Amino acid sequence: MASSTCVYCGRDRGRRRCPALHGLISPACCGRHRAVTIDCPPDCLYYRKHEEYQRRRWVPEFQRAWGKAMEPLYREQADDSIAFAVYLEQVLYVHYALRPRGTDADVLQALGRVREELGPIAVVAVELPPRDVERRLFEATRAYLQRAGGLDPEAARRAVDALAAAIATLQDPRGRDPRRALHGLLGHVERVLGLPPELQAHLQDPASSIETPRILRPTSGSPPSGLDG
Ligand SMILES: [Zn+2]
Repeated sequence: MASSTCVYCGRDRGRRRCPALHGLISPACCGRHRAVTIDCPPDCLYYRKHEEYQRRRWVPEFQRAWGKAMEPLYREQADDSIAFAVYLEQVLYVHYALRPRGTDADVLQALGRVREELGPIAVVAVELPPRDVERRLFEATRAYLQRAGGLDPEAARRAVDALAAAIATLQDPRGRDPRRALHGLLGHVERVLGLPPELQAHLQDPASSIETPRILRPTSGSPPSGLDG
């Protein structure tokens, strides 16, 4: 009967109400594609339950990988790099709390792009969808560099590399669990790092900007007040 066919594959029997696809999805398709190719809303019960379980499961391993990747930075007391790496992780947390869909490969790609753009000049805006993780990281990085004043680009690059290394350690080489490292990372923020007040505020009011001091990117097209004349 058509009405009980899985909205994802059109073959299996749909048994779960999928709020993203507006229909019944099979448990297998839900399990395999949840937050990977399906834009799960963060409040879907299937997403939440599964996510909670996976975060708990992968956080110890992520924490080990993280410790190993950060070890040289701790040894050298590279506090700027460590702080920036933590911040990037927290920004990723906020991003995925609002929009769960994403994979380890997405995060690594986004970090790679941010790394490329890190230079003596502030990170340049690129043409990306407004909700894209890469864009979120770009904007957050730019804001952070502004705020931190003199964060050395090399220190920033080391932070990106260390975080990427931790993620890559957990990435499933067979691709069966495309979110494994992400689960560990998100759990790590939840259980260990926490969120600074401004990111907490952004989570509660996503319309607020975590990232862009308005002065850099006037949305109206007119110069920010106070700069003209
Ligand atoms: Zn299906």
